[in-house]
Amino acid sequence: MTENAGARIDSRINSRIDALRDAVRDLMPRAKSDLTELVSYKSVYDERQFPIEECHRAAHWVADACAAEGLADVGLHPTADGSLAVVATRPGPPDAPHVLLYCHYDVQPPLGEDAWRTPVWELTERDGRWYGRGAADCKGNIVMHLTALRALRKLGGDDYPVGITLVAEGSEEQGTGGLEDFVPRNADLLRADAILIGDCGNFAVGVPTFTETLRGNVNVVVRIETLSGEMHSGMFGGAAPDALAALIQLLATLRDAEGNTTVAGLANDQTWDGVQYPEAQFRSDAGVLDGVRLTGSGTVADMLWARPALTVLGIDAPGVVGSAAAVQPRAAARLNLRIPPGIDPQRARKSLTAHLESHVPFGARITVETEATGAPFRSPAGGPARTAMEAAFAASYGREATTMGQGGSIPLCTVFADTYPRAEILLMGVEEPTCLIHAPNESVDPTEIEHMALAEALFLATYTR
Ligand SMILES: [Zn+2]
Repeated sequence: MTENAGARIDSRINSRIDALRDAVRDLMPRAKSDLTELVSYKSVYDERQFPIEECHRAAHWVADACAAEGLADVGLHPTADGSLAVVATRPGPPDAPHVLLYCHYDVQPPLGEDAWRTPVWELTERDGRWYGRGAADCKGNIVMHLTALRALRKLGGDDYPVGITLVAEGSEEQGTGGLEDFVPRNADLLRADAILIGDCGNFAVGVPTFTETLRGNVNVVVRIETLSGEMHSGMFGGAAPDALAALIQLLATLRDAEGNTTVAGLANDQTWDGVQYPEAQFRSDAGVLDGVRLTGSGTVADMLWARPALTVLGIDAPGVVGSAAAVQPRAAARLNLRIPPGIDPQRARKSLTAHLESHVPFGARITVETEATGAPFRSPAGGPARTAMEAAFAASYGREATTMGQGGSIPLCTVFADTYPRAEILLMGVEEPTCLIHAPNESVDPTEIEHMALAEALFLATYTR
């Protein structure tokens, strides 16, 4: 940016920061009560696990909250996968840019209720953090957006300094692509100059961070069949081809001894040239047990942001309790392959499928079904929105922003980039590593909600084209 542009933004920020900081601080009890309500909805978009009404109640809550902050044309739009996208908008002054605020109201399932130390669906304060499923991902970011809007209204009344559209997706965690399908079909509804993807977070608490790259993903289900039925392991075990053994052997070919992902045809030696992730910090963030080594031959940042990574998400096989002394006739696994920018998801899908089909032992029957693919993403180079957000981050946190990659996938980012090629897409939010998103005991640091909401309010107050 030019020195003039920087000075103009700084003076605009300086004139507002104290009032906005006070406004956001005063709004934090409201943020907590809002998050308590949002977390109470078991909004897992999977009818096999939770009633669909839980998602609908969360959607209505978000819609009502948007209307209460002066957004109009509030709609619950059905998308191709049946989920509802909440969209609400308010035009800005003439010539002001338009900003799209993204978040999602669906959440991951609890993943082991026994492992939770606090009630899954009840926001609970412990050691200064707020615990509950979705407290960070992504309901904490919904509250971040709402708090920023409220702070602006406290100061400026009904009208916002920029045009605003808020979109809350209803099936992000399922990867079923409802909103991805909706966006190009309804391009005018969501069109904006800057898109704030509130589904990310800082490198660490107190360190304002832009996420610049996202890994893509390929999800497949692999099924193995070897016998017409279960056979007694004493009478038949040893010669009867065991489908579970075949699956275990097959899955073992997807990692080498160091733990590098080894899918035939996919490079696994890329390096990350941005901020590094210190090993000790990663061990602590990831809860790695003493004496257990990290996997892969690269740095932590290489392994997380630059190279492919395969995870076995689930295996269909008899559980330990209730299992019989029998050779298994069939077994299945659900696999998740993360791919860095530079690898095409269709090529990755073909490579993974071919690898599985060519490595299955015993001539076992194999089928590989693709569930979903998502392209990796690299956020485009700087522009006025990025410049304004850098200044807002610095003012809110009292330190310069940094940049990192993210191991997770947000396929929607690629859709936004394709649909709105001129829009600036900024990835940010309250989901720092100690939030344990997608795991038991998810939590959010309320100071991150406060700082990020202030940064977002400052951005909205100062961003010009
Ligand atoms: Zn999320």
